Amino acid sequence: MGQEMNKNQNTLKNLMSFLNSSPTPFHAVQQMVSRFMEAGYQMLDEKDCWHLEAGGRYMVTRNDSSIVAWRMPKARLLAESGFRMIGAHTDSPCLRIKPNPEIHKHGYFQLGVEVYGGVLLAPWFDRDLSIAGRVSFIDDVGQLSDALVNFVDPVAVIPSLAIHLDREANSGRAINAQTFLPPVMGQADEKPDFRGLLKRQLENSGKHVSRVLDYELSLYDTQPAALVGLEQEFLTSARLDNLLSCFMGMEALLESKSEEGVVLVCNDHEEVGSMSAAGAQGPMLEQLFERLLPEPENRNRMLARSMMISADNAHAIHPNFSEKHDANHGPIINKGPVIKINANQRYATSDVTSSQFRVLAALDNVPVQEFVVRSDMGCGSTIGPITSAEIGVRTLDIGVPQWAMHSIRELAGTEDLINTIRVFNRFYELEQV
Ligand SMILES: [Zn+2]
Repeated sequence: MGQEMNKNQNTLKNLMSFLNSSPTPFHAVQQMVSRFMEAGYQMLDEKDCWHLEAGGRYMVTRNDSSIVAWRMPKARLLAESGFRMIGAHTDSPCLRIKPNPEIHKHGYFQLGVEVYGGVLLAPWFDRDLSIAGRVSFIDDVGQLSDALVNFVDPVAVIPSLAIHLDREANSGRAINAQTFLPPVMGQADEKPDFRGLLKRQLENSGKHVSRVLDYELSLYDTQPAALVGLEQEFLTSARLDNLLSCFMGMEALLESKSEEGVVLVCNDHEEVGSMSAAGAQGPMLEQLFERLLPEPENRNRMLARSMMISADNAHAIHPNFSEKHDANHGPIINKGPVIKINANQRYATSDVTSSQFRVLAALDNVPVQEFVVRSDMGCGSTIGPITSAEIGVRTLDIGVPQWAMHSIRELAGTEDLINTIRVFNRFYELEQV
């Protein structure tokens, strides 16, 4: 019992450090790559010829922001073993810095920002923000290069307007993304040079830079993840949607002792529709399977013997807004992972795949909940139905229940994530799916 508790504490600690170290999908993938490296996974390059071995552990990344890690079956052929797959997404809604971002107003240095995905904008005000992402530059020998950057320190803030200057502030003020959001980075006598700032940042981390060209940079909250609640039953952090699922899948895969085919796929660009070379609607996974099984009949046999759990957080019922849920389908935090169901296939769950999940959960007495959106409301979606339609694999959509989805500070239950990892472990151990 004590050993179990220690293990869970450790998992939580690792999760919080993963969340804190992953301000962008690039950083999340970097974190995952180093964890998998430590566990003996070999990094493959899509440009090379691959020589894969039975029982081998491999990973491949695309755009530095999507990753697939997998193990080949030890004894059986892939067409006979199939893949037990877990999928998630690496990106979260956020504010992106525009290509020509400098704004100089009243002596303040501000940045123009673009909204990435469905951001809940109000919580971004009055936060101690930092900047992270990838920067492309010409190095000191004239070569085009790129590197990840993270300012770490709080370097920007989006100040609220005082209530005295806007008496309507508490009765539903609309937020104009173009004019309300440019964060303040400091004071300057003349128009500052953002690329010059990036050049210095890169040089401070030992890079030799002649000129910064382009970048994909986001703002993020510097407040670290925390355990909250009288019994520390809640976890608060940015990017729980969906780094929580990436982490759970990674933990399960690292723990798995399976000798069959197992896969974790974490794609970028889910929050903007998944349509990209690295996104779930792109060909990354399909092209991987084409390389593993070039012969179509074998590949299709493998897919017919495979199943995917698409993990993305679910909406927990909010006690102040309980009318937003169907009364019979309002998941409670820490009452178990949620099976997401939608008759219109916004979720890929079928009765067969959800039953499979229930059977696995029951092995460890993990409770399971269901989410169906109210019939008078539209339903969100995720990578499950997209991957399922792209590669034709049986799929189940599940997720840990959370509050404040797409806020800069989201909340989930600590017990749910421990329990979900347990079910994932069972799933990866399945001899046949
Ligand atoms: Zn999500």
